[in-house]
Amino acid sequence: MHDADKNPRRDFLQKLSLGGLSLGTMTMAPIEERLEYTTQKVNRYSAPSDLKITDMRIAEISGVVFRTPIVRIYTNQGIIGHGDVRDGAAKEYALFLKSRLLGENPCNVERLFKIISQFGHHARQGGGVSGVEMALWDIVGKAYNVPVYQLLGGKYRDQVRVYCDTTTSRDPQEYAKRMQERVDKGYTALKMDIGIGLLRDIPGTVINAPDGKLNPYQYEYRKYNMTKHPFTGVQVTDKGIEKLCEFVEVMRNQIGYEIPMGTDHWGHFGLNEAIKITRAMEKYNLAYTEDLIPWQYTDQWREITQSTTTPTQTGEDIYMLEGGFKEIIDKHAVDIVHPDPNTAGGILETKRIGDYASLHGIGFMHHHAAGPVSFLGSVHSAAATENFLWLEHHAVDSPKFEDLVTGIEKPFVKNGYVKVPEKPGIGVELNEDVVKEFIIKGQQMFAPTPEWNEIRAWDRLWS
Ligand SMILES: [Mg+2]
Repeated sequence: MHDADKNPRRDFLQKLSLGGLSLGTMTMAPIEERLEYTTQKVNRYSAPSDLKITDMRIAEISGVVFRTPIVRIYTNQGIIGHGDVRDGAAKEYALFLKSRLLGENPCNVERLFKIISQFGHHARQGGGVSGVEMALWDIVGKAYNVPVYQLLGGKYRDQVRVYCDTTTSRDPQEYAKRMQERVDKGYTALKMDIGIGLLRDIPGTVINAPDGKLNPYQYEYRKYNMTKHPFTGVQVTDKGIEKLCEFVEVMRNQIGYEIPMGTDHWGHFGLNEAIKITRAMEKYNLAYTEDLIPWQYTDQWREITQSTTTPTQTGEDIYMLEGGFKEIIDKHAVDIVHPDPNTAGGILETKRIGDYASLHGIGFMHHHAAGPVSFLGSVHSAAATENFLWLEHHAVDSPKFEDLVTGIEKPFVKNGYVKVPEKPGIGVELNEDVVKEFIIKGQQMFAPTPEWNEIRAWDRLWS
């Protein structure tokens, strides 16, 4: 029995169910009891103002889609909330925050976010704060008996559109065939990974190729994949660009021009190559070219965007609106921003980014690379933001992805859309039997974490 059950109003409800009271017999009753009677269908599972965070634990899984630590936050009233720490991030990024949250009321999401957000950063380092934020919303929704989108101001759509990519082939025909299978499954927005990786072994296409005969990284302290784009000295020749165009041409001939097709993973090269490529791609009407250069080079992004009619897009590694999105949006450095709710700071911060982008005429879509809990958490922010386009679905080929959760109609991704969950919170619970199957070897599902209860430090960022 939890604290809420000790509420005297509960006793009254018990009396009510025993005595079979009707409204007629209530007219002389005290106002509290009359109120209690007329609102008896309202959820009293919880007294939200008395909620307190009591624990945080992790179930870290792999083998479904990426390696995903699932965060679970516990409360004094039996309500638990879930979120994901995104792919490639460490569970400790979330556990570190436990000491800052114990004893706090989880319903004060924005206030708690201001306490913990200083411990997040860009890319994977945003994974802890964002996963915790999502778990807090899950609790709030359950406590107040409403879906998360409702707490954000309501929804703009009942179904959220997803986009997906497919496995890459170096044979353009085969690649197009695989993409056609996505279309046949009902997806209405696509992305293809295309770039200089597809040109390796084709002579005369890439200058200073990372794996080319000059072996340019043999004396470098860091390898190509850790070298930021402007510093690789990679150039793409006309022949290289022609080859890349061929991939898109074959793809477009296969899937047609009605369906939005974005592109990603172009390779590490500088601003001039990006301009050459985006101009060459104009005739294929791509939906966007993603992460051509690192997001931090805002002015260079602006130059690319101004040089072409091919839409530009970045954002999956940016933490918080003020952490980078604001400058990019203010400068119209890209045409579309692409926050990952699991990096950007969670559900509310992602909505803030979308709203700010909307104000400035910039498109808004979601990156996602983690488990189904945060996929559906992202659906809430997508549903509640006006200018939203597409949410990334990374688990199209993972049938177990949907099995990880219960309480939702399956399949929850159908014909390229996800129905916005209407149950309280994010709208799903974990299927622990399935989660157990994928727990990282040597780890225990939701093991106690008392070692994270206390971290002594003075967190104030100013004096
Ligand atoms: Mg990407």
